[in-house]
Amino acid sequence: MTAGPSAATAVVGVIGDPVAHSLSPRLHNAAFRALGIDWVSVGFPVAAGSLAPALSGMAALGIRGLSVTMPHKSEAARLVSARTPIAELLGAVNCVWPDGGGIRGDNTDGAGLLAALARQAGFDPAGRRCLVVGAGGAARAVVAALAGEGAEVVVVNRSPEPAARAAALAGADGRVGVPGDAATADLVVNATPLGMRPGDALPLEPGLVPDGALAVDLIYHPSPTPWLGALRSRGVEALDGLGMLVHQAALQIERWTGLAAPVDAMWRAVVDAPGPGPGRH
Ligand code: NDP
Repeated sequence: MTAGPSAATAVVGVIGDPVAHSLSPRLHNAAFRALGIDWVSVGFPVAAGSLAPALSGMAALGIRGLSVTMPHKSEAARLVSARTPIAELLGAVNCVWPDGGGIRGDNTDGAGLLAALARQAGFDPAGRRCLVVGAGGAARAVVAALAGEGAEVVVVNRSPEPAARAAALAGADGRVGVPGDAATADLVVNATPLGMRPGDALPLEPGLVPDGALAVDLIYHPSPTPWLGALRSRGVEALDGLGMLVHQAALQIERWTGLAAPVDAMWRAVVDAPGPGPGRH
């Protein structure tokens, strides 16, 4: 391992706007240190409308991979030359890398949540009833991932049309529902931003979540959100979004390096990290 970046160092990064407070480079660099490889991750602020030249630049500069965050996930899916099946289904990518003269895009958000559920709660979605609140990009990734593992998925969202589109990702195992459907759920996921700002409404009445269910709030800052706090005070097992954040980044490391990600080291890098600010990941 070298003392620091040199002319031989492999470079990856995160592109988005804003990215200055992103936790992704912290996660990636912790992985590279633990793996003992001469790689470095940095933030690249890329404004909306500048993604195409940024991706061309990635290839031209020999950058080995990029994590893609807002506002670029949908446009990146259109611009890459090849998509994994899940990126194709979602029409959104959260990581890209040079591949065979082109650029391949994947979406590790849903698989990241599944890995976090398995690791943190031993939760296997097969045959379980899941309720997802929200129908945006994160919710869509979660719905597709849960259904892909054999879960039934109910989507509850403020606006009906995005709800129907998200539920359709689960095929015959998906439907649009109402908050009361939580009563029969094994897993309840908040995939809205409600809870990020003081004074936000709760995403779902906590009393609707049954005692034996597992709850996950995809928000990781602040943690716990008021919703998680209310559930935990009732004794409901309730996870924040840090596990999904760590595991989606771990899967990106594996795509780029071909090595198994050192998940424990990545966890340690962010457990006591300062808040990410508005840049999400
Ligand atoms: P989007 O903007 O794509 O979607 C937001 C969803 O929340 C929409 O369905 C929207 O409903 C709903 N929503 C927003 N505001 C309200 C409100 N005031 N009342 C009711 N519903 C509302 O966001 P994302 O899907 O990208 O992100 C959602 C959350 O997930 C964020 O908090 C984000 O930080 C978190 N996240 C966490 C990740 C992790 O690794 N832990 C990864 C990705 C995201 P409508 O359709 O009606 O507009």
